[in-house]
Amino acid sequence: MADDCLFCRIVRKEIPAKLVAEDEHSLAFRDINPQAPVHVLVIPKEHVPSLDQARDAALLGRLSLMAADIARKEGISGDGYRTVMNTNTAAGQTVFHVHLHLLGGRSMHWPPG
Ligand code: AMP
Ligand code: ZN
Repeated sequence: MADDCLFCRIVRKEIPAKLVAEDEHSLAFRDINPQAPVHVLVIPKEHVPSLDQARDAALLGRLSLMAADIARKEGISGDGYRTVMNTNTAAGQTVFHVHLHLLGGRSMHWPPG
């Protein structure tokens, strides 16, 4: 836990969020600035700043599996969806608590830009 980390504060319920899923290890909530009809962030409860600092395969794997579960529940699995993890500045990471974006409900473009 990092005292001054925005997403740790959401884990501690100090800051409100629209929760979508929660278990012992992970938390999912709606992005405050959605880029698609479904835009959910899936995070570990443990503070890891970015993928570059991640060492725990299970921690990372749980994020993908929770995203897939949410996608099925949100009804976007059939049409398809995108999961994205931005790492460090050039990729556009702005919150340094590792998170997986789940985006769906519209067509996605490639390359992503
Ligand atoms: P990234 O740019 O990959 O680090 O993603 C950070 C994401 O966190 C952005 O999509 C923001 O819109 C989102 N965000 C920032 N603050 C909040 C918040 N309080 N609740 C939900 N999402 C947030
Ligand atoms: Zn954190």
